[in-house]
Amino acid sequence: MTKLQRKLPEKLHLRKGFIHVYTGNGKGKTSSALGLCLRAVGRGLNCIFIQFCKERETGERLVSVPNLKFVKVKDPKRGLELAKKSFKDYDIVVLDELNLAVHKNLVDIKEVLNLLKEKPETVEVVITGRYAKKEIVEVADYVVYFQMLKHPFYKGITARKGIEW
Ligand code: ATP
Ligand code: MG
Repeated sequence: MTKLQRKLPEKLHLRKGFIHVYTGNGKGKTSSALGLCLRAVGRGLNCIFIQFCKERETGERLVSVPNLKFVKVKDPKRGLELAKKSFKDYDIVVLDELNLAVHKNLVDIKEVLNLLKEKPETVEVVITGRYAKKEIVEVADYVVYFQMLKHPFYKGITARKGIEW
């Protein structure tokens, strides 16, 4: 039996869910959230990855991973509504680039804080994107600041398919 043919893991639920914030100007915030989801589905958790502010198609959407659903939202308010509904059906809810949507005033910080207040005890939430507001950092449990030290962009190399998107 190949690895791909292996049975899906037994359904798992978290006893306690935390809030993660991945922010800063370094590369790896969205990739980290994806890595977390991959690990989680391997253990039987159910994940939804809601993409805010994503204009370009990204590679991760093009593979089918069991129990990992991608949804790209145009209207950030709809994204928050979807997140709220997802609290019932998913163990991990990723709000990719939500920090950026708040920074651009596409959505009110209060709406994000209200959503986080409604997070059920057993759901894990991951918020990514540059410019995380301090109010969000305050209510989070894991806060990671990705610091860019070097980036090929500064050598004139633009975003590469398969690596950046
Ligand atoms: P990734 O999606 O690769 O994990 P990220 O989520 O941390 O990265 P974002 O801030 O969402 O990064 O930026 C999206 C992409 O833009 C990243 O893949 C990153 O490599 C690229 N990027 C980061 N810094 C710069 C920069 N200064 N100029 C241009 N592109 C950049
Ligand atoms: Mg990102």
